[in-house]
Formats: sequence, structure tokens, C-alpha cells
Amino acid sequence: MTGNVAERNRRSEPELTLTSPFMTPERVAFRRDLGRFIATEIAPNIEEWERDHAVPWALHEKVARFGVFGFGVDEAYGGMGFDDAFMRCDYAELMFGCGASGVAAAVGGRMISIGPIAQLAPETFRREVLPEIIAGRMSSALAITEPGGGSDVASLTTRAERTEAGWVLNGAKAYITSGMTSRWFVVGARTGGPGPAGISLFLVEAGTPGFSRSPLEGKMGWHCSDQASLFFDNCELPPEALIGPENRGFLSIMNNFNYERLAMAAGCLGMMKLCYGAALDWARERRTFGQKLIEHQVIAHKFAEMSARIDMLETYLDRICWTINQGGMPVAEISKAKFSATKALEYVASESMQVFGGVSYIRGNPVERVWREVKVMAIGGGSEEIMRDLAARQMGLAGQ
Ligand SMILES: Cc1cc2nc3c(=O)[nH]c(=O)nc-3n(C[C@H](O)[C@H](O)[C@H](O)COP(=O)(O)OP(=O)(O)OC[C@H]3O[C@@H](n4cnc5c(N)ncnc54)[C@H](O)[C@@H]3O)c2cc1C
Repeated sequence: MTGNVAERNRRSEPELTLTSPFMTPERVAFRRDLGRFIATEIAPNIEEWERDHAVPWALHEKVARFGVFGFGVDEAYGGMGFDDAFMRCDYAELMFGCGASGVAAAVGGRMISIGPIAQLAPETFRREVLPEIIAGRMSSALAITEPGGGSDVASLTTRAERTEAGWVLNGAKAYITSGMTSRWFVVGARTGGPGPAGISLFLVEAGTPGFSRSPLEGKMGWHCSDQASLFFDNCELPPEALIGPENRGFLSIMNNFNYERLAMAAGCLGMMKLCYGAALDWARERRTFGQKLIEHQVIAHKFAEMSARIDMLETYLDRICWTINQGGMPVAEISKAKFSATKALEYVASESMQVFGGVSYIRGNPVERVWREVKVMAIGGGSEEIMRDLAARQMGLAGQ
């Protein structure tokens, strides 16, 4: 195999032999069509978009045509009118595994704000604006993390004070995905006393006086997606900017995390399959000591181990998705899936790089990019430490 980038991006599908009993004809078609779209419209452009630090806006609308931003949202608001945890995961797996998981963040950043908007925003907003967001013509973002901390959501300090005209917002948010390109923001702010019982959610439009933002520079990965710092300086909001009951926003934030974490675990699966496939192609062609790499037992064992971790995550996600589709929300399992997925991703990315050898250290190698994307998966949306803590609490092993 040459060192040519296009050739290095060619990859085998992981040779997984287990058939999922949860695979329906609809899912097969969805995965096939989305997979073809990614292969023709996304994969060939990744290097350029990463260099440009953006994806073209048209991509938002093209991806939206698969209906993926409308899972769990009523058709009256532009949604699919049904939910399916499996298809949510199919989407995340394929998009995060496209070759640059920043593409998934760039177009999918809106997804973590759509739940709160669909459930809590005023009816006129849901009828007039939400369809635009779901159709990819407009973007939205979720702003919870602050410069002072992200893990301890219950201690957030951005403050909303009630006034005669509505609300006035003061504070700052950090690392907000799609923060520069979004028009609408779901913002967590303190309206009551300390702790989780004093937090509410607000819908804030870009351009509101007192609201400014600046791009996050110097990221390790996710180059084609945008993250921003948001600043609220006596930002005046109308009364209806408060969405959901006052001081009850914490629960909404926690519920919303479930789908974000599930999607991130499925995203890790896609990234692991990408690494595995790329490394396997390489191992089948590269020769050392008179043999193909794959013919060295030590290397073959790496693939056995990587494949086992991929199988385990995929199987675990199937069980979680099945439970969700039955009406459950297995928070402990989602937390365990997220931290075990990011640990498995770290392992698979590392071992795949090892298989590639020196060429893995060069920009343009698909595994090199995944390596730079591991930590955002392990920290964002609830870090490994916080996920273990939440799982332990849910399992009754630690203080509730
Ligand atoms: C690229 C990117 C995109 C992001 N997008 C968004 C977004 O769209 N919206 C948004 O709101 N946020 C977003 N985030 C923020 C992300 O969710 C936070 O970075 C994450 O929740 C961790 O918060 P922190 O960085 O403030 O770390 P901290 O909370 O300061 O934690 C630092 C470290 O200490 C550990 N730690 C903290 N508390 C404990 C404890 N009790 N026990 C053990 N260990 C602990 C953490 O696990 C972490 O490893 C994004 C972050 C990144 C990097």
C-alpha cells in the first residue's frame, strides 16, 4: 500500500459475524442510504472541511432530509412523529465513523437542544421555528457548561433575574458546540437558590442585546465543527424566554443527557469500526520480516481484541436501545455504555495506530484523526469519571 491519502482512507468493514435480532428492514435501508450518502457526499470532502474549519451549510439540510433531527418530535413541529433508539444509534455510528467525527458535531450540534425545545418551548415557537431547525435551515445549541466548570451542573452560576419586562441574564458559557453558527440557544441559568432546585432553562436568540460570543480557537480535533464561548451581560429577555417550569430545569438537563450520551457511545462504535477497518486493510498489505503484518500472531491478536471490544459495545447498545424502545430509560446502562465506549475507543485507536506504525503519526491518516478525537468523546457530554459516578449512584452503590 502506498502512502497516498485516498488509499489510506479505503477500509474494510469490520468482519463481525453476529447478526442482530433487532435489525429490521427499515433499519437496513436507513443504514444503507445514509452510508451511501456519507461515502459520496461526506467522506471525499473531509480533508477540505477540516482545513476550512467548517462544513458547507448545504450539508445541514442534506443530512436533515434523512429525518435524523426529528426523532421523538411531533410531525406538527417538523419531526418524524416517532422515535427509535436504534435509528438514533445507527445515525450516530455512521456519522461519527465517517472519517472526521467533527462532521457529526458540526451538523448534529443542534440535536442536544431539540429535545428541550420540542418539550418546553412555547407552541408558536415549536410550530414556526422548530421545523426550520429540524430541516437544517437554522441551527440551535445547548449551553450548560461554564468557564468555572461543566461536570457539576447543579452549581452553574449564570444568573437570570426576574424584572418587570421579563428576565435579565448575566454570566458566561464555554465550549458550546455550534455556538457561532446557531441562531437559538437553550441556556441553563440560576433562578433560585444554590443546587439543582434553583436552575431554569431559557431560550435566547443570537443578536439579543447583551449577548455576545467568540469562537473557541486551538482545538485538538473536531476542526470542522464550531465551538464558542457565550457571554451574557445584562441580556434582557421577554417573559416567554423561560421554557419549562421555573427552577425545574435541572431535571430536563439530566433527562436530555441520556440521548446525548447514548449517541456518543454509538459514535464511539462508528469510530472504532473506522479504525479497525483502516488498520486491517493496512495489515493485509504491509509486509515485514517476509510476511504480511496480519500473518504475525501478535498483530492478529490485536484484531481479535479490537473486534471483541467492538462486538461487546454493539451488543450492549442493542440491549439499551431495545429497553428504550420498550419505554424504559436505563440511565445506569447508558452511563456504563458511555464510559466503556470511550475506553474501548481509546484502546482501538491506539492499537490501530500501532498497526499502522509511523504512517499513523502523519496528518491525513484516518486513525491519526480519531486519536485526536478520543478525548472529546471521553470528556464531553459527561466525562468518564462522572459517568462512573452516575452509574454507581443509579445502581445504589453510592449516595443518591
Ligand atoms: C469540543 C467540546 C464540545 C462541547 N460542547 C458542549 C456543548 O455543546 N454544550 C455544553 O454545555 N458543553 C459542551 N462541552 C463541555 C463538556 O460537556 C465539558 O467539558 C464536560 O462536561 C466537563 O466539564 P469541564 O471541562 O468543565 O471539566 P470539570 O468539570 O472541570 O472536570 C475536570 C476533570 O475532573 C473530573 N471530575 C470533576 N468532578 C469530579 C468528581 N466529583 N469526581 C471525580 N472526577 C471529577 C472530570 O471528569 C474531568 O476529568 C463541550 C466540550 C468540548 C471539549
